[in-house]
Amino acid sequence: MNQRTFHIRTYGCQMNESDSERIAGTLIDRGYSMVSTPDDAELVVLNTCSIRDGAENKVYSDLGRLRMLEAERGQPMKIAVAGCVAQQEGARILARDRGVNLVFGSRAISQLGDMLPRLEAGERLVEVDIHTRPDAPDSHVRPDPWRAFVTVMEGCDNHCAFCVVPATRGPEVSRAPEGIVDEVEQLAAAGCVEVTLLGQNVTSYGRGLSCGTDFAGLLERIHAVPGIRRIRYTTSHPKDFSERLMDTLARLPKVARHLHLPLQSGSNRVLERMGRGYTVAEYMRRIERIRALIPDIAVTTDMIVGFPGETGADFEQTLDAVRDIGYLNLYGFKYSRRPNTAALALDGHLDDEVRSARLEKLLTLQKAITLARHQSLVGSLREVLVEGVSRRNAERLSGRLEENLLVHFSGDPDWQGTFRTVRITSATSSALLGEDLGEEDPLETAGLADGKTFELTRGAVR
Ligand code: SF4
Repeated sequence: MNQRTFHIRTYGCQMNESDSERIAGTLIDRGYSMVSTPDDAELVVLNTCSIRDGAENKVYSDLGRLRMLEAERGQPMKIAVAGCVAQQEGARILARDRGVNLVFGSRAISQLGDMLPRLEAGERLVEVDIHTRPDAPDSHVRPDPWRAFVTVMEGCDNHCAFCVVPATRGPEVSRAPEGIVDEVEQLAAAGCVEVTLLGQNVTSYGRGLSCGTDFAGLLERIHAVPGIRRIRYTTSHPKDFSERLMDTLARLPKVARHLHLPLQSGSNRVLERMGRGYTVAEYMRRIERIRALIPDIAVTTDMIVGFPGETGADFEQTLDAVRDIGYLNLYGFKYSRRPNTAALALDGHLDDEVRSARLEKLLTLQKAITLARHQSLVGSLREVLVEGVSRRNAERLSGRLEENLLVHFSGDPDWQGTFRTVRITSATSSALLGEDLGEEDPLETAGLADGKTFELTRGAVR
């Protein structure tokens, strides 16, 4: 077995994916090499997520499997637990599982390099301080050279009653804009064309920074980086989605015309119990405003059903909101009890049967809306950033539209990481099929590449 090898298993959201890239970069800088399975790894890192009910139990069963693997192969394995479960459970993990050597939270990634010699010397360590600043970008190992996650902030100062993030990722801290822009410039120089700006609540970026840059200002600076052609961002909070930000989004053509704006419930009563800080009408006004400014913008959302105290009438209001807004897609979740959250103390917790039935109804409704929205794109010409060969069909390529919609079409695998013009030929509720028309930029072809005001039908140049 090779020495100084590591394997990372990542659970959960894009923030965790980005954290795993940083963990991998730190380990490679310290002389480790990455392997694709734990079988031959000297160090295995589980980068965990605690968003789902039972996340801790899943981590403990994964740990059990790793220790069985270690016994089978007859070679020692060091195990590190990172991410939200690490943050939440801390030293309890070391106490419960003697096979774990290191527990560290997302704010401690920058200290991983310093902890490694102690880990290698046999110490068992815990580092879960949630107040460290996420300043300097560490080394990253990014899977693709043409696209990158860039973390712009960490943590969250909101206290939504269902959410573990403030407890696991700590208070909100924004990175200085200079460091972010430097990182994007370096990425662009290395061939990156698409960046996704990440934070728990990017719309409040800049709070606490002395320079006065807010998220709109940050977008302007990143938009000016030559070579970057598409900018994505997630996640936005409705209460911080300001007029200034909307105006900026409308002015910057490189920013993808896709807004992910979690509504969470269509009932004001439930929103108040969740502590979300807006009403349905306020949310709707923002959607109307952004659609007036960017008519072709695709809007997606997160929705939680079965929150404690949600009545049948509250749930019907959620369905009404989904119909009225006409989301391109939504991520629907059943409410689940999470440790250290205010919702645990609320009355009116609902049976799983009720929550499951509501989730199914919500997803069925959204599926029909998504299908209709996808079908409305058939016949349009769209710009697609090619991701590579389709995972389901080796004869096809997969790529994404601005709206993050997946398109499959025939083409050359060498087009990976380039933009193509594709005519959408058919649609299902999960993806689109298309035919390649060449590498020209459809906006360029239409003489619209400078981002002048233009008339588009459903985001397409027809
Ligand atoms: S805004 Fe609410 S849901 Fe989002 S990370 Fe913060 S506390 Fe969690």
